[in-house]
Amino acid sequence: MNENNKKQQIRNERHQARMARLKTKVDAKIAAATDDKGLLLVLTGNGKGKSSSGFGMVARAVGHGLKAGVAQFIKGTWECGERNLLSGAGVPFFVMKTGFTWDTQDREKDTQAAEVVWQEAKKLLTDVSIDVVMLDELTYMLSYDYLDLDEVLDAISQRPDHQHVIVTGRGCQQELIEMADTVSEVQNTKHAFDAGIKAQKGIDW
Ligand code: ATP
Ligand code: MG
Repeated sequence: MNENNKKQQIRNERHQARMARLKTKVDAKIAAATDDKGLLLVLTGNGKGKSSSGFGMVARAVGHGLKAGVAQFIKGTWECGERNLLSGAGVPFFVMKTGFTWDTQDREKDTQAAEVVWQEAKKLLTDVSIDVVMLDELTYMLSYDYLDLDEVLDAISQRPDHQHVIVTGRGCQQELIEMADTVSEVQNTKHAFDAGIKAQKGIDW
C-alpha cells in the first residue's frame, strides 16, 4: 500500500467511526421522541420563504390524504399559484376580499375584512375533521390590531388536539412564539427585488 492509499484508508476509518458515533446519538434522539401532538408552527422574519414553506407543509399533508384549510389575511385579488393548485385539490381558502392597508387606507374596512376571514378561520380551528390549518400573514392583523390577540390565542389553544396550525408573517407576537412548538425565523440575506427584479411568477406568487 503506497503512502496516499494509507492516508485515504485512515481517513475512511475515522469517517466511519465518526458516523457511527453520530448514528448512536441520532438514533437515541429518535427513540426518545415518542409523542404525537397537533403542532403550532410559526414562520416569521424578514427573509423570503415563510408562506411558501407553509404551503409546502399544506401540500405535504394533502399528499398524505390529510385535510387542510387556509385563511389568507391578504388582499384576495393578489394571484397565488399555491391557491390555484391547492384549492383545485379540495383545500378551502378564505381570503380577504377588500384591499389592504396601503390600498384601502381605511382602518375600519380592513378590520371588517379581517374579521370575516377570522370567523372562517375560527370554524377551521374547531373542526375536528381538519388536520392542518394555515393562517397566512396573520401576524399583521395582530400588529395592526385588526384582530384581538387574546381571542386568537384562545382559539388556537382550544383547537382539536391532533390539529396542526401554521402561522406566517413578519414580526410575530411574542405570545404566539411562546405558545408555538416550532418557530423558524427566516433571515433576509439578499432578495432579487432589491436589485430591481420584479416578482417572478412561480417563485414569488
Ligand atoms: P414567500 O411567499 O415567497 O414564501 P414570504 O411569505 O416569506 O414569501 P412575505 O413577506 O409574505 O414573504 O412577502 C411575499 C412577497 O414578497 C413574495 O413575493 C416574496 O418574494 C417577497 N419578499 C419576501 N421577502 C422579501 C424581502 N426581504 N425583500 C423583498 N421582497 C420580499
Ligand atoms: Mg408571506
